[in-house]
Amino acid sequence: MENKTFQISLKCLFCDCELKGNTEKEYASGDMIKCQECGEQNDYDALMDVAIDEGKESAIKYAKDEIAKMLKNTFK
Ligand SMILES: [Zn+2]
Repeated sequence: MENKTFQISLKCLFCDCELKGNTEKEYASGDMIKCQECGEQNDYDALMDVAIDEGKESAIKYAKDEIAKMLKNTFK
């Protein structure tokens, strides 16, 4: 199976716009990321929880598609 990277976007917990963190900075647990749109401080750990959930959904959907493809090939 080929490797696939999942696009996970970080969204502001307050206004739901996409967060653009400072790429020069490495964010770690406990950090706050300021939203450019509404100015609220987003908790890094809370953002990661959301991103991981989103990632899981993408992974499950991808796996299902792959299985469906494999089955199709088998029963051709
Ligand atoms: Zn915001």
